[in-house]
Amino acid sequence: MTTYLPCYCASCGHASLVDEQSDPVCAFCEAAASIIPGAVYGDDDWLAFAEIDRAVARAALHGVQASALADELQELMLAEVEPRAIAEHMLRRLPALLGARLALMSLASRGLNILTTALSARARDLALIPGEYPTNLLGPSSYLPGKYAGAN
Ligand SMILES: [Zn+2]
Repeated sequence: MTTYLPCYCASCGHASLVDEQSDPVCAFCEAAASIIPGAVYGDDDWLAFAEIDRAVARAALHGVQASALADELQELMLAEVEPRAIAEHMLRRLPALLGARLALMSLASRGLNILTTALSARARDLALIPGEYPTNLLGPSSYLPGKYAGAN
């Protein structure tokens, strides 16, 4: 099975997967891309990865906001909150993710890992979208029951 690495394109702001044997090139615009270290993906992950990245891209997040959401997601995963509850939480936080709901809900922690990657990729585009971030794109952050309640 081919191994793929996630990469980030500074030209168009998309995350995509590249064959680890070849030079990282953006799947969207073919510009040179940068590998995001960490996770490794396989043939089965392509579709979910594309779906989740598309949804994150559609949200047009400012880098700071993407970075905050990625941190929040990491925190929930480290706290071992049930993956489906985390997915529901993220869907409320970022309603644009509804387009990738199936991938997020059915792949459990794998989908969440992909989401982390896509958000981390967006977090690198601080310079791409200057100016104020419209805060009304995000839903409430503190509705999760149990361990995470009151953590923020
Ligand atoms: Zn690109």
